[in-house]
Amino acid sequence: MICVIIGCGSHKRMIEEWQKLAEDNVKFVELRLDYLRKDPQLYRLLPNRPTAVLATVRRKSDGGMWRGTEEERIKLLRSLIAEGVEYVDLESDVAPNIKRFGKTKRIVSYHNLEETPEDLDAIRNDILEKCDPDVIKIAVTPKSIDDVFRLVDFMKRANSERGKARTLAISMTELGFFTRVLGKKWGAPYTYAGFSKSRILAPGLPYYKVMRDEYRYDSINRETEVYGVVADPIQHSLSPKIHNLAFAEENMNCVYLPFRVPKEELSRFVGLAEFNLNIKGLSVTIPHKVDIIRKLTQLDPAVETIGACNTVVFDGTSLFGYNTDYLAAVLSVETALTGRSPRPGEASPLEGASALVLGAGGAGKALAYGLHERGARVTIAARNVAEAEKVAKWVGCDFCSWEERTGYVVQILCNCTSVGMFPNVDESPMDLPYLRGGMLVFDCVYNPETTYLLRMAREKGCKVVSGVEMFVGQACLQFKLFTGHKISASFVRRTVREALSAVH
Ligand code: NAP
Repeated sequence: MICVIIGCGSHKRMIEEWQKLAEDNVKFVELRLDYLRKDPQLYRLLPNRPTAVLATVRRKSDGGMWRGTEEERIKLLRSLIAEGVEYVDLESDVAPNIKRFGKTKRIVSYHNLEETPEDLDAIRNDILEKCDPDVIKIAVTPKSIDDVFRLVDFMKRANSERGKARTLAISMTELGFFTRVLGKKWGAPYTYAGFSKSRILAPGLPYYKVMRDEYRYDSINRETEVYGVVADPIQHSLSPKIHNLAFAEENMNCVYLPFRVPKEELSRFVGLAEFNLNIKGLSVTIPHKVDIIRKLTQLDPAVETIGACNTVVFDGTSLFGYNTDYLAAVLSVETALTGRSPRPGEASPLEGASALVLGAGGAGKALAYGLHERGARVTIAARNVAEAEKVAKWVGCDFCSWEERTGYVVQILCNCTSVGMFPNVDESPMDLPYLRGGMLVFDCVYNPETTYLLRMAREKGCKVVSGVEMFVGQACLQFKLFTGHKISASFVRRTVREALSAVH
């Protein structure tokens, strides 16, 4: 069950939002009465309520907005129980002084906005002993990946005890986001989500439509397989949306989560996630594509040569690393050259073609490797010429300095720098005079889909391929590696375009 939180300043707005949620089939709502600017008027809010309600009056020290005295707050909580709200939230220090009455269920909560205390069991035992809870809610703040997994372990243990009030444990902020979704696997009775995308009422709180329609919270159970992306930062990743919608389309009991993992905590995360989350697959992106290799037990040859891995498959004993970026990029270029997808066994249209790759980072290495492997004559240019030389040596191709790039006449030009990426959409790594009709111009950048470079290339009559094609291709290849299922590129393309238009 998803509990959607409504926190707004006026009664009128609160009632409107509640009604809207009911019309959208939401069954359970938390009213944050501490957000109201005037004294809460229960006679306006509680009769004819459209869904079950959890009434909460959070004080400032627990992250709330209550402006009145503590005495007034306790009086209000008692009135809410007397009015027969379905659930009331009582903090663990006040719950012992407020007796059970009528049918109202008691959610006894503990909040810590500073840290994840060492002894979570002692906090729970104290609540069980003194507070007469129906549900125990523990919301704490992690400082490390270890803190998050300590909470996971606690929630699993707490909910394995039969006949005790169930525990909902939340690790707040992006670091612990996955506990909000996966709690159901470990016995959490419900989760929280927000009414709107923009109004963030708690750190890491997701929008209810994302929780319901993308993570498919209500269908998560013990058997749900876990996948995800490790990155830092994570918030703009399109991968959760793509993979979760693909799981829904294929009707698979799987969920894909965004894991924000700081660079220095990758190794710890992989070890803990493998053991505690029973994770099946990970997409890997900035800043982890190189460091992840140390954790792998088996490497695809492309990972070895490129020195970067963007896909990890766990089979219970081994960690297999792949690079779907390079294959997706090469397939997009081949498709654009011939106007159709390459057929197995046929010679590559890249055989003997000349190509200039701009940028020697992750994407540059992947492209240089892929094009060279398919028989193209590749030159790599980077503003850090020593880096271009290093990549050229690995791959076995040529290199040149950034200034020399304009002197090359090639059939294929690939931008693998971030030049032209949002918000710097008026920049290009190559000026108009150096683009020639008949050239194929590929841009790794996918946000925006049509970069300034691609606009100029079209004007010159070049064939163009956008980074969206590479992104779609790598997601399809990754999904196949993760699950053995094929998803259609047009489905993923549509999802990526929708997600990109939402970003703007
Ligand atoms: P990266 O490892 O950080 O490499 C970026 C490269 O761009 C480096 O060589 C960097 O040079 C160069 N660069 C940055 N700004 C430059 C400038 N103003 N002039 C010249 N060179 C510049 O990043 P990456 O992972 O390769 O990603 C590069 C781009 O490809 C990004 O826009 C990313 O979003 C995109 N990408 C797309 C896909 C896809 O599926 N479509 C997949 C991967 C990446 P220095 O080392 O000198 O800074």
